[in-house]
Amino acid sequence: MSKVTDVNEYGEFGLIDHLTKSIKPKLSSTIMAIGDDAAVIKNARDYSVISTDMLVEGIHFDVRYSPLKHLGYKSIVVNLSDIFAMNVVPQHVTVSIAISSKYSVEALEELYEGIETACKFYNVDLVGGDTTSNLKGMALSVTAVGTTTDKETISYRSGAKVGDILCITGSLGAAYLGLQILEREKQLFLSDETIAPELSKHTYLIERQLKPEANKAAIEYFKKISLVPTSMIDVSDGLSSDLMHICKQSDVGAFIEEAKVPMIEEAKAAALEFNMDPITCALNGGEDYELLFTLDPMDIEKIKFMPDVHIIGEIVDKKDKLSLHTPGGNIHPLRAQGWNHF
Ligand code: ADP
Ligand code: MG
Repeated sequence: MSKVTDVNEYGEFGLIDHLTKSIKPKLSSTIMAIGDDAAVIKNARDYSVISTDMLVEGIHFDVRYSPLKHLGYKSIVVNLSDIFAMNVVPQHVTVSIAISSKYSVEALEELYEGIETACKFYNVDLVGGDTTSNLKGMALSVTAVGTTTDKETISYRSGAKVGDILCITGSLGAAYLGLQILEREKQLFLSDETIAPELSKHTYLIERQLKPEANKAAIEYFKKISLVPTSMIDVSDGLSSDLMHICKQSDVGAFIEEAKVPMIEEAKAAALEFNMDPITCALNGGEDYELLFTLDPMDIEKIKFMPDVHIIGEIVDKKDKLSLHTPGGNIHPLRAQGWNHF
């Protein structure tokens, strides 16, 4: 009898590695294949940067608290974020949906309203897709494409060097805590339908979860100041997990200074409300869609006036692994938890 292996034995990243390890690009036009935020393909005069992501009902979203308009918006944003994470501006998207009969035309119109709003806001064109049926629920797959003429301006996960400065845009943990609030209110509602959800106190956190934004401004700023991050990734799985991707692919280690990790007060307070350590939420909470990047120390002056960017650590030798320096002077190994969807 042939052996049957549970996908849980691999986890998401292990499974991707396992399934794709023997797939090696053969064409000289394939500059970056599997393994980064997006693939890079060389055309006659420029380079196409391509990324695809799938959102599945019950796994990535819950229609009981995620309005379809927001879901449409988010499905576009998370893909554009992967293109920005390559330091490239996205231009085109395709959207494919698999839907069960529980979705009415009106519901799908709402979904597309969100998709259209995001496309307008980020100045990308929706150029196609596919529509098919599903036995249960909805799956939504978006592909985003951007182009650049200058291959030297593309930032990969693999370019970090020892001594590089580690930076993050915006703040962390808010989207994860927004999700905790939504989950809590859902449980209360399921237990007693007369309890009205108490969401108004945390509108910012909930918005970070339901209607995230990709950091287009940071990429435009890099262009303005002629800065190319030595490596970059968008924070979709959590700071620890995404830093691990940079370190693994750049063959380096890194440390983060706990006190420098940006978190807004509202997120910290919500963490405490849930009896969680705020730093744990910042390190392991996903879906912030901030940009984690490294800089050559020679470029540090360039970001002096960049809004909403924080220096949180440094790239070190691989043998020093990944660590967190606490304000009390302790050093903890960083563990990447990532998301396990299985
Ligand atoms: P992100 O979180 O930035 O969207 P992922 O972790 O989803 O990145 O993917 C990492 C890399 O693995 C990407 O290059 C992606 O294209 C590739 N990948 C993921 N799933 C598959 C698959 N089923 N087949 C081929 N490549 C895949
Ligand atoms: Mg990514």
